[in-house]
Amino acid sequence: MSKFCSNCGTEIAEGANACSNCGTLINKPQTASVNNNNQTNGFAIAGFVLSLVSLVCCGATSLLGLIFSIIGLVQSKKFNGNGKGLAIAGIIISCIFVIIVVLLYALGFTAAMMDSINSANY
Ligand SMILES: [Zn+2]
Repeated sequence: MSKFCSNCGTEIAEGANACSNCGTLINKPQTASVNNNNQTNGFAIAGFVLSLVSLVCCGATSLLGLIFSIIGLVQSKKFNGNGKGLAIAGIIISCIFVIIVVLLYALGFTAAMMDSINSANY
């Protein structure tokens, strides 16, 4: 299977790592990584991103972010600690937002109760 230079289009010789015409470095075919050391902890990233998204969505995804972050933290052991920091950050952010959302709902509920009491007095 012959390759062609992405810069000038010259055919690249088998095994060469640079173009013979212009010297552009050729990316060698990616060898499949067998070890998990450099694998990305998707759950930790997803949890962190979801908890960040909850910052702009009024905490809508914070519960999901919390769940993903916890999974990410558990999974981080399999990834040699990869994503542990992200998972912990995700858990902290999500927890703060879950608490804020719960407080807001509680306040809203209290306000609604007060309203109904006030209107009942009329
Ligand atoms: Zn070239």
